Amino acid sequence: MQSLVILFTTSPTLFYLIIAILGLCMGSFLNVVIYRTPLILKQRWTHECKQYLDPNFQPEPQQKFNLSLPASHCPQCQHKLKWYHNIPLFSWLILNGRCAYCKQSIALRYPLVELISMCCTVIVAYVYGPSLEMLAGFGLTWTLIALTFIDFDSQFLPDSYTIPLAMAGLLLNSWSLYTSPQQAIWGYLIGFLSLWLVYQGFKYFTGKEGMGYGDFKLLAALGAWMGPSMLALIILLSSSLGAIIGIILLKIHKESQPFAFGPYLAIAGWIAFLWGEKIMDYYWGYALP
Ligand SMILES: [Zn+2]
Repeated sequence: MQSLVILFTTSPTLFYLIIAILGLCMGSFLNVVIYRTPLILKQRWTHECKQYLDPNFQPEPQQKFNLSLPASHCPQCQHKLKWYHNIPLFSWLILNGRCAYCKQSIALRYPLVELISMCCTVIVAYVYGPSLEMLAGFGLTWTLIALTFIDFDSQFLPDSYTIPLAMAGLLLNSWSLYTSPQQAIWGYLIGFLSLWLVYQGFKYFTGKEGMGYGDFKLLAALGAWMGPSMLALIILLSSSLGAIIGIILLKIHKESQPFAFGPYLAIAGWIAFLWGEKIMDYYWGYALP
């Protein structure tokens, strides 16, 4: 930490350059997480269901598939990638967005996630400066990016990310990193219960399920990081974002699509994490002159 502070004071440009490269590399890893997590979970659930229905069921031995195996390959031609095909952003630009072997185009999504990760990481460093809050903030930011894209793709927020995120928030705030321990616990409980109540109310009146349990767990995690005072802002921001983008999507698709709320919660949570207090001060200053 000391060396980060020294680097920041002697050469801020180098400091931000290192942070930007860290964000890019992490973005590259996030692409793997986003692509593979739903596949890994679906494979596990299928096995569990089959085992439940047939206790003698033996899963066929198959190739190991997790976050690190198999090595990066082209999803179209399955060709293994060389290290220089795997440099975040630059490889995509140099290869002109095409696979080096089969020349099929590589989705714009991959460099986009890397770019988003880079920008968000640099913004966290800019807002918090070289500190423990910044390092923990990187963890929160990267997890939120992964959750945003996973929920966008598959309409679920995996417990294996939301629950550790909540635990990390409670743990960090046991040393009052962002808010007091009491505030973190209340944030966790109120975060979960507020959306749970909305969910039960919606279900009672319309007979439909408006959102999933993953949404409550994500808001609970955000509450654990920031305390209950930010929850109102997060709900307000995420529902406005959701409404605006929902209307735009409805205009494009002309019919209602399955709608993931997680990405809006994650974006709103990230904004509240960085500028929540400023927004609240501005709002209260404006409302109560
Ligand atoms: Zn290929």
